[in-house]
Amino acid sequence: MVTATTDEAAVVVIDDEESIREGCRQTLSAEGYRAMVAQDGQRGVALVERDRPSVALVDLKMPGMSGMEVLERVRQIDPETITIVITGYGTIASAVEAMKAGAFDYLTKPFTPKDIVEVVSRGLEKQRLARSSTELESDRQTALSNFAAVVCQQLSAPAADAAQCIEAVSSGRTGALTDQQKSMLEGASLRIKDVTGVLEDWLALAQAVAGAAELESVDLRAVIQDAWQAVTERDKPERIEFKLKVSETARPVRGNARLLRELFTRLLANSAKFTPPAGSIEVDVAPEDGQTVVSVKDTGVEISSEELPHLFDPFYQGSRAAPEGSDGPGLAIAERIASAHGGTASASSAPGEGTTFAVRLPAEPDMSLTPTAEPPVAPVEARPPVAVATQALTDRQLKAFVDSMIATRNVVGVKDKEGAEGRFVFGPLERAEELRLDYDVTILPPRKYLMPARETLVRFDLGDSPKAEACVEDIAPTVLVGMHPYDMIATNQLDRLMSDASPDPNYLARREALTVIGIDPARASEKAFWGAVGCDAVEDGFDLWLTDIGGAYVVEVGSEKGAALLAEHAQGRDATNEEIAARAASREGLQQIGAVRPVSFRPTELPALLRRCFEHDLWAEQAESCLSCGSCNMVCPTCYCFDVQDEVDISLKSGRRYRAWDGCLLEDFAKVGTGENFREKRLQRYRHRFYRKGMYLYDKYGFIACVGCGRCAAACLPDIADPVNVFNTLQEGTTK
Ligand code: SF4
Ligand code: SF4
Repeated sequence: MVTATTDEAAVVVIDDEESIREGCRQTLSAEGYRAMVAQDGQRGVALVERDRPSVALVDLKMPGMSGMEVLERVRQIDPETITIVITGYGTIASAVEAMKAGAFDYLTKPFTPKDIVEVVSRGLEKQRLARSSTELESDRQTALSNFAAVVCQQLSAPAADAAQCIEAVSSGRTGALTDQQKSMLEGASLRIKDVTGVLEDWLALAQAVAGAAELESVDLRAVIQDAWQAVTERDKPERIEFKLKVSETARPVRGNARLLRELFTRLLANSAKFTPPAGSIEVDVAPEDGQTVVSVKDTGVEISSEELPHLFDPFYQGSRAAPEGSDGPGLAIAERIASAHGGTASASSAPGEGTTFAVRLPAEPDMSLTPTAEPPVAPVEARPPVAVATQALTDRQLKAFVDSMIATRNVVGVKDKEGAEGRFVFGPLERAEELRLDYDVTILPPRKYLMPARETLVRFDLGDSPKAEACVEDIAPTVLVGMHPYDMIATNQLDRLMSDASPDPNYLARREALTVIGIDPARASEKAFWGAVGCDAVEDGFDLWLTDIGGAYVVEVGSEKGAALLAEHAQGRDATNEEIAARAASREGLQQIGAVRPVSFRPTELPALLRRCFEHDLWAEQAESCLSCGSCNMVCPTCYCFDVQDEVDISLKSGRRYRAWDGCLLEDFAKVGTGENFREKRLQRYRHRFYRKGMYLYDKYGFIACVGCGRCAAACLPDIADPVNVFNTLQEGTTK
C-alpha cells in the first residue's frame, strides 16, 4: 500500500462509545480533516505518539486509562496538541477540572456535527495564533543572536591583535623591560584572555539560539565522555571523581553533536567549578516518556531557592563561593542549546546535597526496530475503515480461499524449491496444496515482484518519426501469499524510497497491482535475527494478515482491497474473543523465535556506532576475502540498486531502455562514464554496504535498512556478509 502524504489537519477521537467515534469520524472527514479514532486511552495515546495530530477529542469517562490520564499523556507527547474533552451532563465539573489542567474546551453529549466542527476549528485557530506568536518570538531571538554574533566576531579580531602585541612586547623583542613593565603586561594579557573568553561564550550563546543546523543521531555516552575530557584538560579540577552511567534502554537523541558537546562541557565545567576537591560528579542517562534525560549531580555548593529561578539567565552572577567567582553565561548557553533541540534544562538543590542539573532531550524514535518490553498497541482504527471485522478461517477454509483466488487471478506464494529440500522460494501457485506457510525464509525476497530482475522502462523507435515512450510491461494484478513481517517491513521501506523525491512509476504501478497476504512466521532460519531487531511484527502495508492459532487462522484485515478479497473468496466468520486472544498469545512468542543469533547492538545505536568505526581494522580484514560476487546484494529485501542499459533490435530501427539488478559489491557498480571508479577497492565496496544498511538510509529516512532476515549471511561463501558478526564485533570493540 503506497500511502499519500496529506497536508490536512489530523484529528484523533478517543472514545469507548462506537456511535460517538464513528459520528465524529464521519463529520470530520466530510469537513476535510484526517480523522482517526481509538476506542480506549491506551490506543489513543499510541495514535497521538505516532501521528502527532493537531487536535485530540478525549472522552473523560472510559474504562482502563482515564480521560484525565490521556490528557496528561497527550500534553507530555506534544504540548501544542489542542485537547477537547467529551463529557456527559452529569460530569461537567470534571470537564471544568480538565480545562483547568489545560484542555482547550469541552463538548457535552449529545452534540451535533455542527458543534464538533465549530469547536475543532476554534481549537485550530487558537493553535495557529499561538504558533505565529512563537514564530515571531523566535524570529526576534534569532535577529538578536545574529546581531550578537556579528558584534562578537568583530571584537574578536582586535582582541587577538592586542594579545599578539602584548606577547611581542612581553617577549622582549621590542627592547628590554623593567620588572614593573613586565608585571603590567602580564596583567593586561590576563584581561585580554578574559575578554576573549567572554566573546567565545557569547558567540556560543548566539549559535545555540540560532538552532542546531545539522541533525544526526547522537550517542550521548561519547558526547559526555568528550565533554568531561575537555573540562579536565582545560580546568584541571582537583581530585573530583567522575561517574557516568548510561541505561541500557536510553535511546540516542536527534541533534547536533558539536552543540551537545558544548552543552555538557558548560554543565560539567560548572559542576567541577563548584565541587570541592575529593567531591564527585555523577552523570546518569536514562529514558523517560519518550525523552532521554541526563542528570548531572555534584557534591558541590548548594544553590538557594531564591537563586534557582535565575540560574539560566545569561546575566546571572552566581553567589556560590568559588575561587573564580561568577558562573558567566555557561549555564545560559547550556539551557539555550537544550531548548534549540526541543528539550529543557533545569536545576534543583538541597542543603548538604549539592546541585543536580537535569537535561531532557527528545529521543530518537524507536522505528519499531528496537524490541520493546510490551507488545506495541496496534491502533487498528487509524487505517481506513474496512467492510469486515477480523475474521477466522479453518485450515480447510484457508485452502478453499486460496484455491478460489487461483481460479480467477494470478496468485504467487511460498513453495518448496524444486530439487533443494528444505529451501523455499516465492513462485506462481497452481493449487493451494503447494503453499508452504510453515517455511523459515525464502532464498530471494518478494522484491522481485516489485522490481523484476530485468524490466523495460522505455520503448523507442528510430524510424522516420522517432519517438520514445515510457512503459510498464508485463504487469497483472497479483496476490502474494505468505510474506513474513520482516519482508513486509522491507517492502514498506521500499515503498517510501520509491515514492520519495522522484517517484518510480514502474515500482509504484507494480506495488499498486500487488495484494499482500502476510503471515506470522512459524520458525526462523539459522541465520535469522529479525526477532532481535524488532522486525517480528508489522502494522501496515499488508492487505490481509494471517496468524496460525492451531487448527485455524485469525485473519486481520489491513485494507479495503483485503476486505473485498475475503468477501469474494472466503467463507470465514468474525473471529471470537478467544481466537483474538490466542493470536495475541502466539505473537508474544515471535520475538524469541526470530532471535536465533545473539545480537549485542541495538538498531538505533548503529548510526552512532558506525560513525565512530569508519577506520576500524575489521573492514580491511574482512574485505580481503570478499569475492565481489554481489550475492549479498541480490538476496537482500532492502537492496534496490539497478543498472540502466539501451538495447537496439536487429533492424537497428527500434529498441528499448531497460534496467537490471545491480549491486554495490560488484566491481563496476561505481564506474562512471569517464572510466573512473569511485569505489574501486574491495574494502570501499565491502564497508559501503554496511554503512548503507546501518547509517546512510537512517540519516535520510529514519530507518535501519536491515530487517534481520539473515539471507546475506546464508548466501556469502567466505562468510563475511553477516551483519550480526560485523556489528557485534564493532559494538563489542567499542564497549570494552
Ligand atoms: S542486510 Fe542481510 S540480514 Fe539485513 S535485510 Fe539485508 S539480507 Fe537480510
Ligand atoms: S560479502 Fe560475500 S556475498 Fe557479498 S560480495 Fe563479498 S563474497 Fe559476495
